[in-house]
Amino acid sequence: MHVQRTPLVSTTLGTTRDLVSFHFGAGRAGQKIYIQASLHADETPAMLTAWRLKQRLIELDAAGRMRGEVVLVPVANPIGLSQHVLGQFIGRFEANSGQNFNRQFPMPAAKALVERVGSRWCRDDAAYNTRLLRAAVCEMLGETTPRNEFESLRLALLKHASDADVVLDLHCSLEATMHLYTSPASWPAIEPLARYLGANGVLLATDSGGQSFDEIHALLWNEVRALLPDDVPLGAPNIAATLEHRGQRDVDYEHADGDAEAIVSFLIARGVIEGEAPEMPALDRSATPLAGSEQLIAPVSGIVIYRAEVGAVLKAGDAVFDIVDPLTDAVTTIATKNDGVFYMRRATRFVYAGAPMGRVTGAKAFRTGVLIGA
Ligand SMILES: [Zn+2]
Repeated sequence: MHVQRTPLVSTTLGTTRDLVSFHFGAGRAGQKIYIQASLHADETPAMLTAWRLKQRLIELDAAGRMRGEVVLVPVANPIGLSQHVLGQFIGRFEANSGQNFNRQFPMPAAKALVERVGSRWCRDDAAYNTRLLRAAVCEMLGETTPRNEFESLRLALLKHASDADVVLDLHCSLEATMHLYTSPASWPAIEPLARYLGANGVLLATDSGGQSFDEIHALLWNEVRALLPDDVPLGAPNIAATLEHRGQRDVDYEHADGDAEAIVSFLIARGVIEGEAPEMPALDRSATPLAGSEQLIAPVSGIVIYRAEVGAVLKAGDAVFDIVDPLTDAVTTIATKNDGVFYMRRATRFVYAGAPMGRVTGAKAFRTGVLIGA
């Protein structure tokens, strides 16, 4: 294992921050796996899981069991970690720009990439072309000059991930059950991980509209594919998923150990780590389209009383929460329209009218446009 420190652009005089990455099995011919945690800096369960995973990878590396390369970034957002304003931890948005740390990731333009590879595209080797594309992406990212600390963080993360076969982005939600987001294309490869993690919500979307870290490589691949002649084959893009390690306050050794071990089992099952993969538990719930998940909105302001626990399996018409108005005595009950799992809810107990309150999975897609929140 070796440790790499990538200095970020210094924002103000006398301050510096590094992005620290841990590299296991570097230079091995096998697959490259990239794992990062807490890109939204206030999502601590992910960071604890990554720390436990690091301990396990150190053991496995020392035992000579690495068959591929794993790059682990347990603290993916040192900028956000420092954003404490009037006692509040602001880890989701960059304080200077207001941008969500996990939206609108910038990638090189598809046309420029196709031109960069030029006459080297091969007409009979899809895997070779994928390597060419990944190398061109890394090359162009390497030529980019970040203008500020935020851009330098994004660039450093993208450089780690751009030539990876598998990208896992570890997050958590507000109050939630273990769930994950991935694309229909990645889902067959991610399913073993969902099973080892015991995920009871799997949300599928090719393009959620947010250009989040796990989606951008496949989106770029689609654009490049569309520009290439039909007789130039291109291997599949990387396999990518965003894992939501329950709610922000679910920070304990038991969950972190279980989740880290699930990732290790997934890596063994993929052949990245030598060994016999443990038996895969059955998937708790079938994957559902992200466009089918119902976003519950508070129709009025008031005090929130949740009537459904996170992880509850609900039927259409089941009450999810009440909103109490102590001035008028009105009690407004909100029910779900879906049959599905109540996989996440907000942590606040007082809401304004129009506030997003939680989500229930649904088998039938009905939403269009941007599918994820701010
Ligand atoms: Zn997040």
